[in-house]
Amino acid sequence: MKISKVEAFVLSDKLQESFFFSQWEYSERRICIVKVTTDDGICGWGEGYGPADVIKAGIELITPLLIGKNPIEQETLWFEMYRKTLDYARRGVLSASISAVDVALWDLKGKVLQQPVSVLMGGQHRQKVVPYATGLYFSKSNKLTQDLADEAKNYVAQGFKAIKMKVGFSIAADVEHVQAVREALGKDIKLMIDSNHAYSLREAAELARKLEGYDIEWFEEPVSPEFYHQYRELRSKTSIPIAGGECEYLRYGFQQLLQNDSVDILQVDICAAGGLTEAKRIATLASTRGVEVIPHVWGTGIAFHAALHFIANLEPIPGRLYPPDLYIEYDRTENGIREALTAPAIQMQDGYIDVPHSPGLGIEIKEDVVRHYATEILI
Ligand code: MG
Repeated sequence: MKISKVEAFVLSDKLQESFFFSQWEYSERRICIVKVTTDDGICGWGEGYGPADVIKAGIELITPLLIGKNPIEQETLWFEMYRKTLDYARRGVLSASISAVDVALWDLKGKVLQQPVSVLMGGQHRQKVVPYATGLYFSKSNKLTQDLADEAKNYVAQGFKAIKMKVGFSIAADVEHVQAVREALGKDIKLMIDSNHAYSLREAAELARKLEGYDIEWFEEPVSPEFYHQYRELRSKTSIPIAGGECEYLRYGFQQLLQNDSVDILQVDICAAGGLTEAKRIATLASTRGVEVIPHVWGTGIAFHAALHFIANLEPIPGRLYPPDLYIEYDRTENGIREALTAPAIQMQDGYIDVPHSPGLGIEIKEDVVRHYATEILI
């Protein structure tokens, strides 16, 4: 069996209503997905996280390394892709191209061997995961605080037990928003905050101090991802756990976060940091320091299911008779592609999502939906 075709697609969906976070405005979802096909007609699907058109160009760069190769040998293929891009992009978007292909190779391998990806990764430590809703972005509404409280209540009504909201607007506005959302949620729903590295260390410490009383599950990307030592210093100033890693790449980058004791929670993005192959190595590195891993997920059902299998396979550290449930990030902002592209639809029951038992990632990709959202005309 040999890889015969690698096809990358850029999908675009214009949003009905744009939304903001601390860095920029979203008015479009633009996503790169990849299909890897073998000479006997089996295919696997992957996705890259980041600027879709650049990821697609990166996939085109590495495609010649893949054609004619055995797709089951994904570690040797991973190394060839890494070696080819190392001189130009030791971190960043080309590793998202590698990630997309790597996820597709795992999906393909699962379909060939008729096993779920998590089983092929070594087994399922758990069969269900707790989704947390990612939402509560900023808008131009003149009643934003009330809107955020209403949105939070809506997630609870849908059955979510944990919710992540954006901060990074300004310290005063953040405190007002968190106060209103916590009040709307009551005390039993977990609440995380994410500033997308909006703050200096001094500001982040001030915000953390002002939010100490609101039972915050974690403070995500409080400061710039470049400042590993500031992460560590912030941890010493607050009891709120500190999370980060969605802007980090490959095991070499994550080692920086770990060696500097920067985070309580390491947030690897499987579709950017090197795929499932590299994410498993990063989880192993994290395990040597007892640091929790909760992946960052922001994309379609492909990215979501890759994370679901990865989390199912995560070693429980520490082990105990009744280990805690693990979270999966479930983006609830507007995204027509995410809702339509994959089947079956993602289902939450009693606050949990089941890990699929069918081969590969356990999803079908609707190719008519690929054609509908593709930025190029496909035959
Ligand atoms: Mg984030």
